[in-house]
Amino acid sequence: MSSLKSLAAAAADVEQPVCSTQSSNDEELEGIGLLRSVDFSTIKPLLCNCPIRTLRPTEVLIAAGRPNNCLYVVLSGRLSVRLCSAETAPIAEIVAGETAGELSMIDRQPTSAYVVAETDCRVLVIDEELLWMLVNTSHAISTNLLYTLTKRLRVGNNTLFENRERLEQYRYHATVDALTGLFNRHWLSNMLPRQMHRSRICDEPFSLLLIDIDRFKDYNDLHGHVAGDCAIATIGKTLRDTVRPSDMVARYGGEEFLVLLPNCPREAATGVAERLRSAVERTKVNLQHGPELPSVTVSIGVAAMPKEGTMESFVTDTDAAMYRAKEAGRNRVSL
Ligand code: GH3
Ligand code: MG
Ligand code: MG
Repeated sequence: MSSLKSLAAAAADVEQPVCSTQSSNDEELEGIGLLRSVDFSTIKPLLCNCPIRTLRPTEVLIAAGRPNNCLYVVLSGRLSVRLCSAETAPIAEIVAGETAGELSMIDRQPTSAYVVAETDCRVLVIDEELLWMLVNTSHAISTNLLYTLTKRLRVGNNTLFENRERLEQYRYHATVDALTGLFNRHWLSNMLPRQMHRSRICDEPFSLLLIDIDRFKDYNDLHGHVAGDCAIATIGKTLRDTVRPSDMVARYGGEEFLVLLPNCPREAATGVAERLRSAVERTKVNLQHGPELPSVTVSIGVAAMPKEGTMESFVTDTDAAMYRAKEAGRNRVSL
């Protein structure tokens, strides 16, 4: 049933006052958290005229963004709390003995979530006036209400925490390459202009290395793509382990890597490139549960950031240097 239909049906679903089904209600009333440790004889007359709503599965008891002046107490069945719509995944459950609607009723703000029946439900409806009367009558009810509100706060905090963790994970996957664990192209397109800007403002040198694995198509053809992937991941690790912690390594494309060297002039960058080239040459490629594979070599282009120019022109300069290394015979560094 749609949310609107559910709301329209709500009025028709309002049942008889609670006292008319006396025997079952005594048991149900005793299970209500809000009434824990309360002397029933004093409050039963107050509850006698409360209507009971019956709900069928998927019916909406509370729709988000509406005014609400009632507290709902679940007598039987199970409700769920959903954030964006009555159809989104539930974030909490409300079972028999628990309440819904207390926040919006107390602070008189529009409701913040949907409360939807998961099963057939019977819900006691306590209006605002009566609730405050109950609170004034019984210290135990005030304490129980405080406890209920604290529980709501706890659920809210937990949801916030889980969402933050999820956000961190999304952020991680948005910036990290799955095969190598290095930064990815998306990260690079954000970070490279920022690093260039920072270096220019601080008047510091900034160099870039473009590293391309030599004859990698042949490597794949000879040893297979799984071996090729293993080689890329291995080289990625070698590069990361060989640079300083302040340098940054990203996977630029298939078998290409970019190394960002902040505060590093061209001569020093050439030294770093030579160190990386030599480290890769000496790195063994070990396929899990397979034979040891031949090492690969890389050609590296080095460029220092010009005083002006965009990220694209800086990468193009570095790429041109890398192609000169290829033309000169591969497994070498070129400016
Ligand atoms: P060069 O020395 O001129 O760079 O020769 P190359 O064969 O490395 O250059 P080319 O650009 O012709 O081929 C690059 C190859 O890298 C093609 C593609 O099969 C392989 N490759 C790219 N990305 C991946 C990947 O993620 N995994 C594997 N296994 N291979 C990849
Ligand atoms: Mg390439
Ligand atoms: Mg290549």
